[in-house]
Amino acid sequence: MEKLIACCGLDCASCDAYKATVTNNDELRAETAEKWKVQFNADITPEMINCTGCRQEGAKFSHCNECGIRNCVKSKGFSTCADCNEMETCSIVGDIHRYVPEALGNLKSLN
Ligand code: SF4
Ligand code: SF4
Repeated sequence: MEKLIACCGLDCASCDAYKATVTNNDELRAETAEKWKVQFNADITPEMINCTGCRQEGAKFSHCNECGIRNCVKSKGFSTCADCNEMETCSIVGDIHRYVPEALGNLKSLN
């Protein structure tokens, strides 16, 4: 499957919100909402599970719409953190890369 690399380097194509949206799958929306409710300790309903991907036009999951990394990338006029010379030292995107090293690899593959 082709990757859809988000501003931070995560692959939106492998995200359940993205998959549920592009296949309009209400069962997956409900499952994802239950899973994320626990994971993010937040009130997440199936109706909130709509997202076409970080850098694609269309709906965004609420957190992704307010994401500090996405906002930082946009404010600097970049496409992703791969355009920034702070990519490997940045404290904003650093947590993601610590927990999901593949995200940093995805960004490096863009350069
Ligand atoms: S931007 Fe959307 S598709 Fe990408 S990780 Fe966030 S919720 Fe998933
Ligand atoms: S400062 Fe950090 S979050 Fe902002 S574009 Fe650069 S690497 Fe990304």
